[in-house]
Formats: sequence, C-alpha cells, structure tokens
Amino acid sequence: MHILVIGGAGYIGSHVVKELLQQGAKVTVYDDLSTGQQINLFPSAHFIKGSILDTDTLGHAMAQNVDAVIFLAGKKAVGESMQNPAKYATTNLTGAINVLNIMLEYGVNKIIFSSSASVYGSPEYLPIDEKHPVNPMSFYGFTKLETERLLKWYSDLKGIHFVALRYFNAVGYDANGDIKGLEKNPQNLLPIIMEVACGIRPLLTIFGHDYDTPDGTCIRDYIHVTDLATGHWKALEYLKNGGKSEIINLGTGKGISVMEMLQKTQELIGHKIKSVFDTRRAGDVAVVTASAQKAKELLNWQAQHSDIDSIIQTTWAVYKNSMKNV
Ligand code: UDP
Repeated sequence: MHILVIGGAGYIGSHVVKELLQQGAKVTVYDDLSTGQQINLFPSAHFIKGSILDTDTLGHAMAQNVDAVIFLAGKKAVGESMQNPAKYATTNLTGAINVLNIMLEYGVNKIIFSSSASVYGSPEYLPIDEKHPVNPMSFYGFTKLETERLLKWYSDLKGIHFVALRYFNAVGYDANGDIKGLEKNPQNLLPIIMEVACGIRPLLTIFGHDYDTPDGTCIRDYIHVTDLATGHWKALEYLKNGGKSEIINLGTGKGISVMEMLQKTQELIGHKIKSVFDTRRAGDVAVVTASAQKAKELLNWQAQHSDIDSIIQTTWAVYKNSMKNV
C-alpha cells in the first residue's frame, strides 16, 4: 500500500509515518516544512516538499500510484485562528478542497483526515460521543467541521471513502526516541510545562483554578501520539476492508487535570516547576472527555500508551535530550 502523508513532517504526522513504515507500507511524505521539520523525516519514506496550496506539486505527488491519503497538514493554533481567520480559511479550507480535487483527478478514493474535538464546542454531556452536537467555538474548529462536511459531500457525490478522526488532546513522544522535533513556541499544556522544566520559559501560567473539578483546574482527555498513529493505521485497514465513511473520536475516555499534569511531571523529573495561577482562559470549559467506544467497535482500537506516566516520560526524554544540544 502506498500512502501519501500530507503533513507528515509534523508532530502527529511523523508518528503516523513511523507506524506506517513499521506496518510495511510504502510512504511518501508531502510537507511544506512551515511547521513540520526536516528532523522528523524518516529516510525510508520518500519526501516531496510542497504546500497544499500548490496544486501542481500536489498533483505530481498524487500521480505516483497512491492508494490512500492521510491528510494532517493545516494550521492549528486556536487563538491565532480567531485573530487571522483568512489564514485559516486559506490553508485549512482551500487546502482541503485542493487535496480532494486532486484525489479525484488521479482516482485516489481513500482518505484519513485529522479532525479535532474542537468541532464539538462546549460539552452538553460527557463523555462526548460522535453523536454529540457540533458547535465549534473557534474558527479553527469551524475549518475542521467544514472539511468533514466537504468529505461527506465528496463521499456521496464522488465515491471518496473517508475516516475523519477527531483527536482529543495529543501528547507524548515516540518511546524509542525516533522523533525528535520539538514544536516552536508551543501553545499546549504539556510542552509548556516541559519548556519551563528546561528553563526555556520562566513559569507555567495555570488558567483558572475555580472550575467545578476536584482540584479546581480544567480536565482534558490526553491521548498519546503513538496511540493516535495506531488509530490512523487501523482506519486505513478499515477502509481497505470496505468500511463505510465515518467520523470517529480518538481519545481515552479518562481525564487529567492541569494540576495533576504539573504535579506528576514534577514527581517524575524530580524538580519543581514554577507556576502561577491566573484567571480563566477565554473559551475553556471545565471538563472534556471522549467516548472512545466507536473507535473500539469499528476500528478495534483503544489507547494503550496514554497513561499519565508514559505521556510525561516520553515527552521529557525528548526535551531533556534536546537540552544537551543547546
Ligand atoms: N493550560 C494552562 N496553561 C497553559 C496552557 C494550557 O493552564 O499555559 C490549560 C488550559 O486552560 C486547558 C488545558 O491546560 O485547561 C489544556 O490546554 P491546551 O491548550 O493544551 O489544549 P486544549 O484543551 O485547549 O485544546
């Protein structure tokens, strides 16, 4: 099977590529390296540098007997999407339209799409299953939802088979240390904790400690990126075996609070991480957890590496190692 991994040099993409190579697939990575990194590329995967907005280069990549596409490329900073919707509309929406049109042009009819739990908006019940109403609270979430809708139309009209995977909070690193790229200026909790631990940032700001949760801080469903990667392979197998187009959550069903993440990191790395409490961050809700039932039933997938110790230890290993090279 030849898989075109669009966005394969990024944090999640590189873990997906590793999984595909381990499974014996032929892989071509397509990435413009805007946020993806050269260091995340595997020598055994073919690499084409290009943007999803460059239809000529994308067409050249798609022309090479591709059996399926894994489409991860896109902008993903929630806050930035609210300030610069045009950038998100262009990259995420025009980009998705380009990918789908070029798939049609070259007769490629299977795609796994990186969607996000942000399509749900504020939870009406927990855990969130795929039947939960969708009501994105950010422009970023809107672009993910619109792409899911595009996929549905292309599926109905043109026979594209898709699985849209709604990721919850992606964390962790490859346990063998094969993926070393660190995100520049990360906006998410665990990489920020790690940057403080490494002395790159002075402190962690905890956004709100008056939520209706046991310790007053927000609870999220953190899913190890290696588990996400396995989910992509299982979704491909599902489509290959004739499965119909679906939208599927990838999460653990369990929640971890900001405070638990901080305290456990301090315990595992053996030193204190400076933090301060601040007011709530706009748009945050107290608790988000996923129902992972559908993934289990349809894909025979469930999280295996997403316990808090594995999440923190695999992430710390990469950060600690990077400090040696400073
Ligand atoms: N968070 C925090 N300080 C930070 C970054 C995040 O307290 O510097 C909290 C945030 O309020 C949320 C949780 O950590 O409750 C996870 O946030 P993240 O941005 O990683 O993911 P999100 O759930 O917003 O997609």
